[in-house]
Amino acid sequence: MTQPTPIAVAYGDGIGPEIMEATLNIIQAAGANIAIETIEIGEKVYLRGIETGMEHGAWDVLRRTQVFLKAPITTPQGGGYKSLNVTTRKALGLYANVRPSVSYHPFVRTKHPTMDVVIIRENEEDLYAGIEHRQTEQVYQCLKLITRPGSEKVIRYAFEYARAHHRKKVTCFVKDNIMKLTDGLFHKVFDETAAKYPDLENEMWIVDIGAAKLADTPERFDVIVMPNLYGDILSDMAAQIAGSVGLAGSANIGEQCAMFEAIHGSAPRIAGQNRANPSGLMLGAVMMLVHIGQAAVAMRVHNAWLKTIEDGIHTYDIFMDGISRQKVDTTGFAEAVISRLGESPKVLKPVSYEIEQPMALWRKNDHQKKAEKRLVGVDVFLDWDQGSPDDLGASLGQVFVDPLHLRVITNRGIKVWPDGLPETFCTDHWRCRFLGEDGEAVQPSQVVELLKRVGEAGFDNVKTENLYLFDGVPGFSAVHG
Ligand code: NAD
Repeated sequence: MTQPTPIAVAYGDGIGPEIMEATLNIIQAAGANIAIETIEIGEKVYLRGIETGMEHGAWDVLRRTQVFLKAPITTPQGGGYKSLNVTTRKALGLYANVRPSVSYHPFVRTKHPTMDVVIIRENEEDLYAGIEHRQTEQVYQCLKLITRPGSEKVIRYAFEYARAHHRKKVTCFVKDNIMKLTDGLFHKVFDETAAKYPDLENEMWIVDIGAAKLADTPERFDVIVMPNLYGDILSDMAAQIAGSVGLAGSANIGEQCAMFEAIHGSAPRIAGQNRANPSGLMLGAVMMLVHIGQAAVAMRVHNAWLKTIEDGIHTYDIFMDGISRQKVDTTGFAEAVISRLGESPKVLKPVSYEIEQPMALWRKNDHQKKAEKRLVGVDVFLDWDQGSPDDLGASLGQVFVDPLHLRVITNRGIKVWPDGLPETFCTDHWRCRFLGEDGEAVQPSQVVELLKRVGEAGFDNVKTENLYLFDGVPGFSAVHG
């Protein structure tokens, strides 16, 4: 027998310990060859004053084992506690969140009997960078960061996943009609990547209409890749319309490490009652077994589980009169799955994890050549409430350092000077764009001198953004209005 694969296991809070025990019992009965190292995370750790929610030493275990099976945790009420999930994903570089949503019609109630969608959510960036600032009395901002390597990693993963799992199509959801630079980059990388996978269909949807289609006719989608926030929202929606959030597992994949979990929380109201459905965590563990190269065991577990669902052996959350045959508790459900190991479903489609070749995932040296970067101006953001946009334009227009002159002022992104409309509502946060002529290069020292003069003229400059051209293409949004 080969050496067991070391995995880190956290039992979590609420229903966590019950569903973890059931899950481990099932996969070990199926022959999972694993060596478990338990770590402590969650509420107790937070309440001990450790703000990450993970005991000291746990990071060493995670970095050594590189595989983490995690039960849900309870985040204590009140401020100051960092999200353990967000910290773990970012600290360990878990860039792809893989969330299958499958319906089990007619055994679990759903309006979408043939749904079988995998959402692959970018997991490290977007608005989840958590960089927020209050800048004026009225205005707060959150920085949305989309990077080329971040997009390349997750989009490449989506195509490799689709190919390895015999899927046909990869769809991208973005909002690049509005966020032309950030979501525009995600879209561009999607197109570049798709061109390398001619065997797979690809398509792009604006996220609003894409979400509507996904809620209405999920069967027309296969694998969908999207930035973090859209993926967070839509993957829960997809799991719910497939039948129940209680049935969905999820994988968080990084270059070195990976974490596997259920998508639901710690369900404190039913904790300690042996009632919870362990299926979500168990399906997360199935993804873990595939990841560590124990696909045959994964298949045994998954098919026995499908047979259990099809035989009508259900926990209370999916129990339906007329369809379910026996209501079982957590341990009863685990025993039912164990007793079916080696069997396959007859009505539901059996799963197969025959992955022919290892996925060719993104590596750090997959670099493009660097663009030529030229400074051409600066956006100066002011906290100002002394009058109309024309008043601001008239006085700030006196401040310049050749060739940098005030060209336009916007408020919440809409142009208000010159030639603004009196109807436009203005806050106390003004973006004042200083540019040279026709993409002419300016020196950083000229920007510094300009900012000095803006301050000397009595303006409250709350932030600046340098304006660059990259290979001649503006790296900043055009002004609307
Ligand atoms: P929840 O997912 O815990 O519960 C939502 C509803 O689904 C509840 O009615 C619950 O009883 C039911 N439910 C969830 N899992 C179930 C299961 N396996 N079997 C049967 N029923 C199940 O969400 P919540 O109530 O919003 O959050 C509770 C706690 O969980 C909070 O502290 C939250 O921060 C935490 N949480 C943790 C994670 C995680 O660790 N990954 C994820 C989400 C929420």
